[in-house]
Amino acid sequence: MRRQQQKAGYVEVNSPDMMEKHFWELSGHWENYGENMFTTTLPDERVFCCKPMNCPGHVQIYKHGLKSYRDLPLKIAEFGKVHRYEPSGALHGMLRVRHFTQDDAHIFITENQIMEECLKINDLMLSIYKDFGFEDIFIKLSTRPEKRVGADHLWDKAEKALQDVLNEVTKRSNGRIKTALQPGEGAFYGPKLEYVLKDAIGREWQCGTTQVDFNLAGRLGAFYIDENSDKVTPVMIHRAMFGSLERFTGILIENYAGHFPLWLAPLQVVVATITSEADPYAAEVVAAFKEAGLRVEPDVRNEKIGYKVREHSLAKVPVILAVGMRDTEARNVSVRRLGSQEQTVMSLDDAIASLMSEAQQPG
Ligand code: ZN
Repeated sequence: MRRQQQKAGYVEVNSPDMMEKHFWELSGHWENYGENMFTTTLPDERVFCCKPMNCPGHVQIYKHGLKSYRDLPLKIAEFGKVHRYEPSGALHGMLRVRHFTQDDAHIFITENQIMEECLKINDLMLSIYKDFGFEDIFIKLSTRPEKRVGADHLWDKAEKALQDVLNEVTKRSNGRIKTALQPGEGAFYGPKLEYVLKDAIGREWQCGTTQVDFNLAGRLGAFYIDENSDKVTPVMIHRAMFGSLERFTGILIENYAGHFPLWLAPLQVVVATITSEADPYAAEVVAAFKEAGLRVEPDVRNEKIGYKVREHSLAKVPVILAVGMRDTEARNVSVRRLGSQEQTVMSLDDAIASLMSEAQQPG
């Protein structure tokens, strides 16, 4: 994602985890989102809030230095840790937690850049979803909620802009992407497009969002200087692709039933010894794989090789390399793939080269 974002012209930042309450009052979060926020009072009575969203922090970064229309679009991204007080009954494994990492970004633009930037975000999202094996996508348009900030004529503009984007996205997909309307489900500062992914067994997961916001930047005093030297409030697009990295990890585990492609597997290779005499060679093999950038661990326990293979297969490790005395002498490894009973003997160098190429990340 970092690589893709960099290519797309984003700058990555890290905004503070806690900011003073008055700041969240200014942004509108305190009034409209306060019940979801964790707070703490300092000895001097000042109240600080853990950030439930990254947006206000990014507006502060935007405000550093005078901006002209030539600086737009300005794209600020963060893998931001956010904290939200969810009722305990709503918590659900990795799918719903109270502290999660948002793959968040805010794009500051002029009003007539909305379509172009939303389409770029759409393309980036679809390409990243595809890398993770999701091609069946469904997009919902969520409109103004009851609890909100900003004038109705700005909401009219924002909703119309997103409806136009949605029409264009559907047209470009030749009708492959289905859409729906969700009245009243937008964020308190703007309407949003919600990207719903269908997994391997047809379950639907809401992941990405693109939100068009005419309100927040103005509330926090952000502006740019336009062609006529006038101060203008930028439009903000809020976007997240996975939404929550923790939740997306949960979705991936469900989608692949734990059987990840090699590039995604948290542990890619286990080097298991057949006899303790092969321990030094196993250490050498592990070091060589590490050097090649693969995620590898040794298993030199005094257990039968069949037992080790069974255990790592249950843990869905994609590749198990068995090494014994004969391999030590020949500098070979016996490669066993998850789900197969077969073993292929290869030279260490060949095994590294072939697994390295298979573990290459998409894009
Ligand atoms: Zn935001």
